[in-house]
Amino acid sequence: MTGRYDDRQTRGEEAGGSSTDAVLVRQDLFPWWDANARDLPWRFGRTTPWGVLVSEVMSQQTQMSRVVPYWQAWMAVWPDARALAEASPAEVITAWGKLGYPRRALRLQSCARVVGEDYDDALPSTYERLTELPGVGDYTASAVMSFAFGERIAVVDTNIRRVLSRVFLGVESQGGASTVEERSLANTVLPDDARESVLWNQSVMELGALVCTARKPLCESCPLAGLCAFNAAGKPGLGDRPTRPRQRFKGTDRQVRGIILDALRSRPAAAHVSRDELDALWSVTGQLDACLASLDDDGLIVIHHDSSISFP
Ligand code: SF4
Repeated sequence: MTGRYDDRQTRGEEAGGSSTDAVLVRQDLFPWWDANARDLPWRFGRTTPWGVLVSEVMSQQTQMSRVVPYWQAWMAVWPDARALAEASPAEVITAWGKLGYPRRALRLQSCARVVGEDYDDALPSTYERLTELPGVGDYTASAVMSFAFGERIAVVDTNIRRVLSRVFLGVESQGGASTVEERSLANTVLPDDARESVLWNQSVMELGALVCTARKPLCESCPLAGLCAFNAAGKPGLGDRPTRPRQRFKGTDRQVRGIILDALRSRPAAAHVSRDELDALWSVTGQLDACLASLDDDGLIVIHHDSSISFP
């Protein structure tokens, strides 16, 4: 496994731009990462920057453990941006499967076209160029710069915000977009050394996914239990509003859109689903029509003159 932390290299190192507390946290966190990091196939230098980008886009609203089989199948068929750019939308939407929010699949393909055409199939390696790509925002660009290119840059996702806020400030992070204070904290505690900064981003994120979870943090088995301000303060306000309420799925437009796309996925790529077949899928006609219209707007289906649908 590459990217391992060597404790001897940083023991006694000056804190530099980060706080002494952050150095102590590192000394407990990095060995934990060594022993506990999940062996995800896009980690430890085993894929290309493009593969890292694909993993980040797939993981945006889906748990990483669920992403693994999709990512593996996807990269086996489309190992680089050019290959994905040449796929049909039907293939791309079908391969996206149950990852949810399928517009991400089409945006990823739009991104692949730009990378293939404008960058000769090599993902650009600056934050500015990355954020110019379709569907690539601050988080994804930061994650790719850190995890794929090894640059020193703070990555601020929900897990990292929660862990840093608990450990260093002793309070729960708030919902919504990250605040100036949270970004400032993330930059302050980021190790000065680029290699360590990558380990830091990965290990804080992993701790948030596996141990310092939103509702039931496992403080008794946490490597930072003795350093964590939130733990020391008795976990004030735990569960008050750390996450958005879990969204109902049954009966929602998301469910109906998924049922419609599943009907298309279950047949050959160019096949149509007739209006009669659509009516049999969902009994609330108004909702069915609204979902068909929104899928059409998103470029995920085409509605034909006879009211049948197909993939684009
Ligand atoms: S001690 Fe508890 S609250 Fe603090 S980082 Fe660990 S799991 Fe999170």
